[in-house]
Formats: sequence, C-alpha cells, structure tokens
Amino acid sequence: MLTMDSKPAMLRIISSAIGVATRAGAEVRQITRTGKLGIVDKGVCDYQTEADRRAQRMIVVSLAKKFPKSIIVGEEDLVDDKKADASLLVEDADESVLSQTLPKEYENVKEEDVTIWIDPLDGTSEFVKGVSYEHVTVLIGISVDGKSVAGIINQPFYGQKVGEEDKTTGRTMWGLVGLGCFGVTPKLMTEDGLVITTTASHGNENIEKSIASLKPDKVLKVGGAGHKVLLVLEGRAHSYVFASAGCKRWDTSAPEAILRSAGGQLTDAFGQTIEYKFRSDGNYQNYLGVIASASPKIHSKVIESIPQEVKDGLKSKSKL
Ligand code: AMP
Ligand code: MG
Ligand code: MG
Repeated sequence: MLTMDSKPAMLRIISSAIGVATRAGAEVRQITRTGKLGIVDKGVCDYQTEADRRAQRMIVVSLAKKFPKSIIVGEEDLVDDKKADASLLVEDADESVLSQTLPKEYENVKEEDVTIWIDPLDGTSEFVKGVSYEHVTVLIGISVDGKSVAGIINQPFYGQKVGEEDKTTGRTMWGLVGLGCFGVTPKLMTEDGLVITTTASHGNENIEKSIASLKPDKVLKVGGAGHKVLLVLEGRAHSYVFASAGCKRWDTSAPEAILRSAGGQLTDAFGQTIEYKFRSDGNYQNYLGVIASASPKIHSKVIESIPQEVKDGLKSKSKL
C-alpha cells in the first residue's frame, strides 16, 4: 500500500502539484464560462484576470498547507494569497507519481530545499484578447539548488478553439529531469525546414534580428512561454527564440524542466543555465532572454547565430 507520507519529498510535491494544477485548470475554464474576467492592467500588454488570481490562490494555499517549509514564488502580487479559503484548498494528488523510481540525485531532497514557481495562467494576453485559449497554460516549476528540475503543465483548453463548444477537460503533463516526461509524447522534428516559434504580443527588434539570422522556413508567432515550449516538445517547432527581457522565472521553470526531462534544452540567449533562486527584491526577470530547443544540436546552432549586437544589448540592460 502506498502511503503518501513515506514517499520522498520530490515525489510528494510533484504528485500534489499535478493534482492542484489540474484543478486550477478547471477553475480557469469555469471563470471563462462566466465571462467575468475582471481584467487588471499590470503594464504594457501585461494583464491579470480573475482566473489568474483564483488559480494562483488555489495553488499557493494548497501547496503551502502540504509543504510549509518550501519556498513558493507566484507571479501575481496578491496580498491574501495564503489566506485559508476552504473552497480553494485542493487535496488531490496523482497517485501514479508515487510509484515511480526516483532518480538517486533527488532521494535526499527535503521539502525545505525546494522552491516552487507558479505562473497560474501563462498566455494571458491571448486569453484576454480572445485570440486563442489553447495558448493558455498553468505552470508549476520545482527548483533545487537553483536548478529547475521538475515541471507540471496543465493546458486547460487543450483541443478547444475560441468559439468552439466548451467540452474539453484539458490535459496535465509533467516531467522530472533524469526520469522523463509523462502525459505528453515528445517528438523530434526532422532537421530540414527550420521552424521557429516566438512571441505574438511582446515582440521587438532584437527578437526579429535573432530570428532573421537563422533564416527560418517558418515562424510561428503564438502566445505563452508554456505553450511555445510545448510546440517544441511535441515536434511542431525546432526552437523557441526570445532574445529579450520580459519572461520571468515562473514562465520558464516548469517548461524548462519538462523540456529537459525529454532531452531538450532551455537557457538564456548565451546558452547559460537560468538560475532559480529566491530573491528578496522579487526581481525574477530573465534579462538575458530565453531560448528553448528540442535537442542540444539545434540549441547550439540557435545560440551561435544570435547576433553579437543583440547579446551586447541584453547584457547592458540586465539588472541582476
Ligand atoms: P509571450 O511569448 O509574449 O506570450 O510571453 C511569454 C511570457 O512572458 C508571458 O507570461 C508574458 O506575460 C511574459 N512576457 C514576455 N515579454 C513581456 C513583456 N515585455 N512584458 C511583460 N510580460 C512579458
Ligand atoms: Mg506567463
Ligand atoms: Mg501569468
């Protein structure tokens, strides 16, 4: 008989994160159905809705109760996000995770060694504008010693286009570096006909210059860091190119871990690993950009092709 308490912390945290990500995704669908999005403007093309707020509260309240010693960092600045609210507390956990054989390197990881990164709704721009629901994801990343190692992604509207009948139950995927990924089938594209995916709503000259230098055959401009990494993971794009500040650690933690668990890579525009550490100033910008690729070979090619002037520009504006 599997008892949750006797299992290693890493498996227990992933198991609970899958349960709460799935429920948060259902909450996002429910709020969308009501049509009362309660949009708040956080900046230039940066929005927050009631779906972002409720999903974050649900995830924070539920994980903080079970793992009080872990550090939890959420995107939304909500004064009351740890306030107990019975309707938000999720006890669901994915039992199948508990029977996985945990790679040795995680055996001694304790609850207090873990930082949990939450983007309760990634792809809000496209969600608010009604461009696409499929670009929306709920992201929970788990880092240890500054490295993102596990990621849970729920795609609440998987398979549902805007205007189509609302009948999807979404999908939840997860990965642990060294173990593999689950709930999604990674696919490597053939190397000919380079396909790049990038932002639809936060573009700029540096991103354009970086993509142009790759001479791609196709560029998919779509919303969400989580969604773009899924395109790379599932063989619909070779690489996600975002040579710009703008993405934060909660955007990249879960996608990075799930992609790496399948043999891909996600780094900054210099090919350096992104560091996931708590900061008292709350500045979690990925100033040096985000590049994610299906394989190390494609990744090196993309990193090498980013123009030096773009790299210099990113470095000069970094505030970390
Ligand atoms: P996008 O690819 O534009 O959907 O962006 C991926 C993630 O990074 C989303 O969570 C965006 O909100 C965030 N992001 C990227 N660029 C910016 C920016 N310039 N301002 C605010 N958020 C950004
Ligand atoms: Mg986001
Ligand atoms: Mg968000």
